[in-house]
Amino acid sequence: LEERARSCLLRFRHRLEQDIKPSYLMDHMISDGVMTVDEEEKIRTKPTRKDQSAALLELLLMKDNRAYISFYNSLIKESYDDLAHLLREDLPSIFCEAHKSSSDSATSYVQTVLSEGGVPQRPVVFVSRPELVNRVREKLYWLQKDPGWVTVFGMAGSGKSVLTAEAVRHHGLIEDCFPGGIHWLAIGQLDKPDLLVKMQSLCFRLEQSLDSQTLSRPPNSLDEAKERLRFLMLRRYPRSLLILDDIWDSTVLKAFDIHCRILLTTRNRSLTDSVSGAKYEVGVQSGLDENKGLEILALYTKMKPHGLPEEARSIVRECKGSPLVVSLIGALLKDNPNRWCYYLRQLQQKQFKRIRKSSSYDYDALDQAMAASIEVLPDEHRELYKDLTVLEKDIKIPAKVLSVLWDLEPEEVEDILQEFVDKSLLFVDSHHKPYLYYLHDLQLDFLVEQNRTQLEQHYRDGPPTSGDEECLYWIRFLTYHMAKANLSQELYSLMFSLDWVSTKSQIMGPAHLINDYVEYGSILDKEFQEFLSQNGHQLEERPFPDVVQLALSQPHNSEVYRQARLQAQDRTSTG
Ligand code: ADP
Repeated sequence: LEERARSCLLRFRHRLEQDIKPSYLMDHMISDGVMTVDEEEKIRTKPTRKDQSAALLELLLMKDNRAYISFYNSLIKESYDDLAHLLREDLPSIFCEAHKSSSDSATSYVQTVLSEGGVPQRPVVFVSRPELVNRVREKLYWLQKDPGWVTVFGMAGSGKSVLTAEAVRHHGLIEDCFPGGIHWLAIGQLDKPDLLVKMQSLCFRLEQSLDSQTLSRPPNSLDEAKERLRFLMLRRYPRSLLILDDIWDSTVLKAFDIHCRILLTTRNRSLTDSVSGAKYEVGVQSGLDENKGLEILALYTKMKPHGLPEEARSIVRECKGSPLVVSLIGALLKDNPNRWCYYLRQLQQKQFKRIRKSSSYDYDALDQAMAASIEVLPDEHRELYKDLTVLEKDIKIPAKVLSVLWDLEPEEVEDILQEFVDKSLLFVDSHHKPYLYYLHDLQLDFLVEQNRTQLEQHYRDGPPTSGDEECLYWIRFLTYHMAKANLSQELYSLMFSLDWVSTKSQIMGPAHLINDYVEYGSILDKEFQEFLSQNGHQLEERPFPDVVQLALSQPHNSEVYRQARLQAQDRTSTG
């Protein structure tokens, strides 16, 4: 029902309740097809005429413009001329109703349905993604005749919620498939008590818009809530769509496994495996194309896209068009229009923590959104996921490489990688056989950033010495990770220490060690390289040679010699 008409009904509610005889009016409305016999029956059970009138108005408030017009016409037919007169001014134009073809135009009908169901409005700055929107609508049309699930999946901040809200903003779709309304429920990460509260409030909302007089007590348990909801959806809201935004856990989904029409957004593609019914899915590729990204920046900064500074393009490229990141930066630029360079630099230096939220986004910052995704992995897989820092930017690798790294069977590795892919933590290129896997740049940066803290810890603890597995890993990869995290100073002092030379070559063999020195030679002193190239072959020998002794043969003015002397002195003083 259009807002004007609804407000008119509410304003004159008392006059109407006093005067009308509902039974006559309802006959007309039934023959107009805007009211069912069941609905009439329910109203007739009310004890007094006035109660019945109130119930009829209540019902009318939930109906569409056609019902309002039919009600108006029946007032005229029953000669309530003065009452009809009151309603006439706000009579919805039937033309805009009939004008279905105005595809996604936000008609007031659509607005009303969506805002009643709590569907979020478009963000202030918004760019269209027509192809994706159409794909979601296409899947929703599958729910026209039968209940089922549509999963919209993709990584954090890829725009799933915005896209979903946009897809249902469509007159034809609502009328054809979901005339019972569209009800939005924001879920997020929650435990059982929180879930119960959410379900209670949904039941409350649904019941309230039915009949404000007879509210039942809230359901006490999840099972009760599920049954209440099943009843409401089946009896009171047939042919309606329930949107569950941001689902993490299949137990949540099971509470909604009530044979109705559901769209869910999630990072985890495989959630609907655990529920019954028809299932459809749409993947949201993470990035906007460059022009759309630029359009967002232009809208925030109130500039023309072609007038944007050159940093704009770099910003979009740097985050691979992530809608979330582009919007976050756009919002920051709106307040600080001369900081293009600064924010680009922050993005390049992965200073995510400083790119704070300014929208209504759930997470304080991008890194929290990423961290949340990783947190829900089972412990052992979380550790494996962190190892993916060894992937290079823009390089795709087959499962076999990781099976070497993780020392697991290739099949097992494939299963684990599939889990990551399903949770939008990893991408797969399935055009190749075998499949190739890769990380989104932002994910890689995030991982490196996270590892940095851990690395610093490892570094502070001194070079690892024992041969247990965790240590082996770090001995093997510490230098690599440090270089990658730009910890040059720390890397420098690590590799510039005889302790490290002796530990790593004893445990991993000199080849690995020498490789490190070649790899990171640029940041190191040549002296160590020379020392190793002269003595590398001896490091292979067993019993292991005394590194300090070897080093003492180096030129006396070299750092290698200086360290060796210090250690030798140490030895003599401690005996
Ligand atoms: P998801 O649900 O995938 O985590 P959202 O839909 O919440 O992502 O989008 C995250 C943020 O990205 C939004 O708050 C908004 O600022 C921005 N965004 C997403 N889609 C668009 C779009 N089409 N136009 C403009 N901004 C968008």
